[in-house]
Amino acid sequence: MPDQALPDCLFCKIALGAIPVERIYEDDLVLAFPDINPQAPQHLLLIPKQHLASTREAIAEHTPMLGRLVAAAAQVALQKHLQNGYRLVINTGPDGGQTVHHLHLHLLGGRPMNWPPG
Ligand code: AMP
Ligand code: ZN
Repeated sequence: MPDQALPDCLFCKIALGAIPVERIYEDDLVLAFPDINPQAPQHLLLIPKQHLASTREAIAEHTPMLGRLVAAAAQVALQKHLQNGYRLVINTGPDGGQTVHHLHLHLLGGRPMNWPPG
């Protein structure tokens, strides 16, 4: 079962509560917490509680969870008063700059974002 918690996965440990974080938002599928190395005044991570390495492994059965990630991000953005906008980012694989191999959505806000990204 590929989506079970991996013992050596940092974000699985966070989802299970083995590593404490400020749990900004939580439901049955999703957890949001602050990024430890913020790149904007507001920088939060939203993760599925179930392990999924990246969007490369995403299949149709993950659709509810992936949809919930985006809906939760919108809710957290409201909670953080990001009415002026924000950026949602999913880094995937080496070329995408992914460093933690448990899928996560970055929510960045509180300043204007540049385009194109680096
Ligand atoms: P990515 O480069 O897209 O894989 O993003 C991984 C993110 O996880 C980076 O922005 C890190 O700062 C963040 N990160 C790593 N360890 C932790 C942690 N223990 N708590 C919160 N954020 C973390
Ligand atoms: Zn994991």
